[in-house]
Amino acid sequence: MLRGLLKGLKDLIYPNCCLVCKNRIPPAGQQQLICAGCWDLFEKNLPPFCANCGRHLDSQAIEKNACPSCSKCKANFYFDRAFSPCAYTGSIKKLIHEFKYSGKDYLGKPLGKLMHTFIRDYQLPIEHLDFIIPIPLHRSRQREREFNQAEILSQEVAREFDKKALTGVLIRVKRTQTQTELTFRERCQNVEKSFFVTKPELIKDTNLLLIDDVLTTGATSNEAAKCLKSAGARKVLLLTLAS
Ligand SMILES: [Zn+2]
Ligand SMILES: [Zn+2]
Repeated sequence: MLRGLLKGLKDLIYPNCCLVCKNRIPPAGQQQLICAGCWDLFEKNLPPFCANCGRHLDSQAIEKNACPSCSKCKANFYFDRAFSPCAYTGSIKKLIHEFKYSGKDYLGKPLGKLMHTFIRDYQLPIEHLDFIIPIPLHRSRQREREFNQAEILSQEVAREFDKKALTGVLIRVKRTQTQTELTFRERCQNVEKSFFVTKPELIKDTNLLLIDDVLTTGATSNEAAKCLKSAGARKVLLLTLAS
């Protein structure tokens, strides 16, 4: 009884509020950090998916047999296939921004859940993957931000499926400037040779899942996948929260 009373008191003093709408989460959902309503409002990426970038293809794209995002950048991706549970817009975009730039590492849990729910729902071949690898930050940038958001997401997914997240094997050797204003080609040049594999023997002939927070043009993840492939990786799948 005392425990129940203390918990009631704690809920009164520190009510569990949704991280998105700030409304109180009913006691039944107290384990969650995002309320069911907000969870449903995230714009989900629904099938059919583009076989390259993983974005949703509408009927027009299917008719033309061309993904608008992929045809725009005319990319030849080194990763075998990309997946994203959400479209990069609305409250998920805001949440990712807070996760990345406001030091809110605890957002890794609900955001990681988006990833493993997606892996289950769409039966991604997780059992055939040897390692999960986060897109690394340059060490000076990681020092500024205090953590690497991709590493936290990788750990969440690895724990859920009993896999190993490899850190320190793919490293970032070049600190690149912000890419917001650049085209795909310019971004590719900007990130060229910015990754390095420290232990190629570890990833030779492996199937990997590369994880990042967002896929925009794909230039960064593409360069990372290129680096892993030239170090001997057999297959590289890419999973991001949003694209
Ligand atoms: Zn909410
Ligand atoms: Zn595409």
